[in-house]
Amino acid sequence: MAVIDRLLAPNSAFQSRFFFLARRFVAGETTAAALAAVEELRADGLTATLDFLGEDVTDIAAAAHTRDTYIELLGALERDGLRANVSVKLTALGLGIDESLCTENLTAIVERAARLPDPFVRIDMEGSAVTEATLRVFETVYAAHRNVGPVIQAYLRRSPGDVERAIALGARVRLCKGAYAEPEDVAIQEMPAIRRAYLRMAEALLQRGTYPAIATHDPRVVDAVRAFAAGHGIGKERFEFQMLYGVRPELQRELAREGYNVRVYVPFGTHWAGYFYRRITERKENALFALRSLVAG
Ligand SMILES: Cc1cc2nc3c(=O)[nH]c(=O)nc-3n(C[C@H](O)[C@H](O)[C@H](O)COP(=O)(O)OP(=O)(O)OC[C@H]3O[C@@H](n4cnc5c(N)ncnc54)[C@H](O)[C@@H]3O)c2cc1C
Repeated sequence: MAVIDRLLAPNSAFQSRFFFLARRFVAGETTAAALAAVEELRADGLTATLDFLGEDVTDIAAAAHTRDTYIELLGALERDGLRANVSVKLTALGLGIDESLCTENLTAIVERAARLPDPFVRIDMEGSAVTEATLRVFETVYAAHRNVGPVIQAYLRRSPGDVERAIALGARVRLCKGAYAEPEDVAIQEMPAIRRAYLRMAEALLQRGTYPAIATHDPRVVDAVRAFAAGHGIGKERFEFQMLYGVRPELQRELAREGYNVRVYVPFGTHWAGYFYRRITERKENALFALRSLVAG
């Protein structure tokens, strides 16, 4: 394990040599590469949310570095007149060190973002060990700043309650299936049941929520949401689809051409190993793509 950790350590010679494997899913290792990806997406009618990769930081300086990188990124978006927002992981802002430190770091980002044309800050949801703390920090910051919103994972058994709470608060939710391995008592395990739970929560958010983000590449979910919205008179401007950078790019563009708002989640930075690992383990299509790159590279 220690050997693997060293090999995959950000900036290690091994990891940078293998960045080409992650290239499809990660925009690049620098802020400049992320901004270039936003430009490229804009040309195709897509908006973006930018994620500076990293999670589970254990020291205050690393959490401050994450915060400052986001603040610089927001400055660059403003300078270049690019309309994109940001997604943050609270364990990268110090949630595992101290909740109030994390709250302060998040507040600094949310206050800087408030000056941008797209001022929204999305809080990604991580493993179930931090769900409660993540939602607590969200509510603390939301009490004073409305430009922040959580992610709710449809596979979690607690999520219908969290969706109702977010609706009552008027908060913007990103709904996703959930990407972390969770035990049976915490999360639904079977895909058809996860999909059903997803759709129930999506319908509640579409009907009673505030500009929900429907984050999925699942054509059955996308079609069901399209049909539900059309059947209930919910206009295309009242929600957005979200997909990951490099995943089903043709569907992203097709939806944009049909007049839906589509936002692409664009990760960047040197800490790409954990994110890349989640992508290749969740879909065989993604793993095959990485394997093909290895052979071609
Ligand atoms: C914008 C965004 C933000 C997210 N944020 C979070 C977060 O904060 N926390 C979290 O836990 N998770 C997050 N996720 C990940 C999410 O929880 C799922 O793990 C991930 O999206 C996979 O589920 P799915 O519904 O997209 O499709 P899946 O269940 O993986 O696939 C369903 C179907 O979609 C099609 N499909 C999917 N991928 C491909 C592909 N690569 N090529 C071809 N067809 C494909 C196939 O037909 C497949 O059968 C996010 C996802 C998105 C899109």
